[in-house]
Amino acid sequence: MTDLLILRERRFLREQKLAQEGTVVTIKPNVPGADKRFVYSDYASYVLFGELTAHFAPVQTIAEHDWEGLVFTLLLQEAPETVKQACMQWEEAHPLGRLTDLDVSGKGRVYSRQDAGYPPRRCYICQKPAVVCSRSEAHSAAALRAHIKQTVLAYLNKRDETGRLLPGRCAEMALLSELCREYGFGCVTVHDSGSHTDMDFFTFLRHLPVMGQHLDEMVHADISDFSSLRAYGRRMEQAMLQATGGINTHKGAIFLYLLLAKAFGDCRSLPLLPARIRQIAAPVQADFSGSKDTAGLLLYEKYGITGIRGQALRGFPALFIARALPETPDAFLRLTLQLLQEMEDTNAIHRGGMTGWQTLQRKAKKAEGNEDRIRELDDWCKKQGISTGGTADLVGGTVFIHALDACERMWNK
Ligand SMILES: [Zn+2]
Repeated sequence: MTDLLILRERRFLREQKLAQEGTVVTIKPNVPGADKRFVYSDYASYVLFGELTAHFAPVQTIAEHDWEGLVFTLLLQEAPETVKQACMQWEEAHPLGRLTDLDVSGKGRVYSRQDAGYPPRRCYICQKPAVVCSRSEAHSAAALRAHIKQTVLAYLNKRDETGRLLPGRCAEMALLSELCREYGFGCVTVHDSGSHTDMDFFTFLRHLPVMGQHLDEMVHADISDFSSLRAYGRRMEQAMLQATGGINTHKGAIFLYLLLAKAFGDCRSLPLLPARIRQIAAPVQADFSGSKDTAGLLLYEKYGITGIRGQALRGFPALFIARALPETPDAFLRLTLQLLQEMEDTNAIHRGGMTGWQTLQRKAKKAEGNEDRIRELDDWCKKQGISTGGTADLVGGTVFIHALDACERMWNK
């Protein structure tokens, strides 16, 4: 608990300092307990961040992921009274608004709900004043977390007029969750840029809504065979480069998510998913006999490593290692370490060579359950310039298919 209190105090002081330059809004997940890191709450924080930045165009933005979960701090030029009013609208009217706290500071003070003419916050389970439920511990942490999860799943479960699931929001939550991992093992996270020098968390963040939108539109696009799916993927790559200013943040993820979205849309069931993926991806086999013009195919020629194509042909067995959607940092860490040991990560091989990759696998095995070794491995990846992007894609892909499945089951109830 002390950690959380110190962290809050430090953040509060920084907010007050920053508030000398304008109006500061902090977007924080509203989660019970001392450890507020929770995949669904981080997503709520991300959604509200998108709404606020589109509305206000902040002059400065900070993102952090710690005991308080995914926290955004924005510096705005508008008057604090205006900002507080707008934030109250989001808190009250947005489907995920009550899962976040939007704290507003400016002109040397913090603005309360009462300042904006609103009554004290109500509990999201029983509607009594939140402070009453919190003091009396009326609801268990598990019940509150279950409520957060259900609220977010209902939001992810976006349908078109014919009732077809639009997969974009599930994809955005999945892509975000991978960035919110405690350790990136060379990949970009909220904490740092890993082994990369040309991109950071915000580079990735800029592309997430674009990717979500394309996956939603894919549901109504004319995709009858694998070559039209690939053509659609190439258009998505162009949109990615446009959103990121020419930086490749998600090339592998685009291929993976597109295939998963298409296959799941066809079969609407997790048990049927591998067979449907194998059917759709069958034409990929031809890549191995054609010209080896990509990094992935060169590795096949050199070492017989089949990479993401080989996984697609087998129906992505790695996505089924986790039996449920990973929800906490521990679950993400366990899954990441397991994937590092078991999967061919062509990103890691590309940057570290075969020797580097094999060392990585050994280190990942030894690091299991040992915080010091985990940190060491994370540092080692950065020092070697190795990025485990293939693994990150599979972690996100796991979240994606479980989120799609949860939406489908909610719909069929
Ligand atoms: Zn209550």
